[in-house]
Amino acid sequence: MTPPTPTQAADLYPVADQTRSFLATPPPGQVIGGTEVRGSGPVVVDQDPGRAQPLAEIASASPEDVDHAVRSARAAFDDGRWSGIDADDRERLMHSIADHLERDREVFTDLESLDTGKPREQAEEDVNEAISVIRYFAGWATKAEGSVIPAPSRLLAYTTREPLGVCAAITPWNYPLPILTYKLAPALAMGNTVVAKPSELAPLSTLALARLALEAGLPDGVFNVVTGAGATGSALAGHLDLDKVAFTGSTATGRLVMEAASASPTRVSLELGGKSAHIVFADADMNAAVGSVMDGIWTNAGQVCIAGSRLLVEHSVHDDFVELLVSRTRELKLGHGLSQGVDIGPLISAGQKGRVLDHIGAARTDGARAVIGGTEPDMPGHFVEPTVFVNVPPGSVVVQEEVFGPVLAVSSFKDEDEAVRLANSTQYGLAAGLWTSDLGRAHRVGRGLRAGTVWVNTYGIFHPTLPFGGVRGSGFGRELGSDAVHHYSETKTTVLDPSP
Ligand code: ADP
Repeated sequence: MTPPTPTQAADLYPVADQTRSFLATPPPGQVIGGTEVRGSGPVVVDQDPGRAQPLAEIASASPEDVDHAVRSARAAFDDGRWSGIDADDRERLMHSIADHLERDREVFTDLESLDTGKPREQAEEDVNEAISVIRYFAGWATKAEGSVIPAPSRLLAYTTREPLGVCAAITPWNYPLPILTYKLAPALAMGNTVVAKPSELAPLSTLALARLALEAGLPDGVFNVVTGAGATGSALAGHLDLDKVAFTGSTATGRLVMEAASASPTRVSLELGGKSAHIVFADADMNAAVGSVMDGIWTNAGQVCIAGSRLLVEHSVHDDFVELLVSRTRELKLGHGLSQGVDIGPLISAGQKGRVLDHIGAARTDGARAVIGGTEPDMPGHFVEPTVFVNVPPGSVVVQEEVFGPVLAVSSFKDEDEAVRLANSTQYGLAAGLWTSDLGRAHRVGRGLRAGTVWVNTYGIFHPTLPFGGVRGSGFGRELGSDAVHHYSETKTTVLDPSP
């Protein structure tokens, strides 16, 4: 194996000096009880997917390290160093983390782009989103109120929102920082302590955030990190002393997480895969719809749970729409995330590229025709060309399975009923997009779609206030918004007899 040359990528691209020094001496891999330590599990080589070159070597957490992290989080919860302080102070400390992240925005953007391969602008949006999510939930620390119950009237009965305890956050490699904050921020706001497990394919921003949170004043042991692959995740999900496991990743792994977590009465929330349909009616604004469809599938090279990977176009405009989509897709530039003017980066790994190419092959076997792309370009890194398939049979693998790559399957429909039927015809239910200028139709079709989120005349809007999550094979539980506050706290009822 080629030995890691951690500074190499940083030497080739314009990155901040702090990014350079971070990569020259990467964190040892585990953050437990406020101390950065080396894991005692196998060493994992973290790659720069844009060059298929090593970026950092990280010794992963063994099951004993995972246990140590959970025990540290438990001790930090039980002694009240976080749950017991004033909500004002929790809010202030969370804002301090967000301030530090703003200060280091450039470094986090560099790291996220290098580690995931995504274009720099997209990485910057991710960092900005993480900052807003932390600030939004910081506010909830002082606003998650209980209520006074009017009956029985002889008694004073009231509810308060109590933290759960120790929460595990198992996250994927496509949006490491925002997805971490979807779990970490509401957990911290409500007074919980956390053990996070980022993906072994992109752990750097999580490790950097844990370091930064300590610098910002978060008490030791409140936010712990363990790294490693599935074995680390499995040891964490199955730990008997957790109060919640929040997982984002594939549907298959989600099932394993749920199984492991069932060893003890642990709450589970799963944000899983998707096969989201983008539906375009003939009365839509075509230019805007094409732009939205492109963002929906080419962003992050299609490695997005909410990727609009199925396009359903009303029959009468199908050919014109596809022509416009293909001609605008032809203008996109593939390249390393940190090089100038890049629209689409690489896939995360050689394995992921292989899986995407297998899906492309299977679609062809099913009779689908690629009108653009379908091959891997001749360049270093794990790249696949943006690919659009037409004539795709409804049962085809690219219609039914999440590809997690830049592959769009296009079909046509003749009326609203058929659009809804096709959109609902997979095992998933994460999101859907709908383009029409008819408000009544927007409501009718939107109501019929089985999805956690429906975007009308837009796509992929995320905001800290908007609950997000799936139905059916896309999981359950909601992140973001006030829903998340309820998922990271439990109602406690107090009944007081004023005249016993
Ligand atoms: P993706 O391919 O989107 O990363 P995965 O579901 O494979 O989806 O991974 C999501 C997260 O789950 C990663 O942090 C990964 O290391 C972790 N993971 C993988 N296998 C398991 C497992 N058996 N139990 C718990 N976590 C796991």
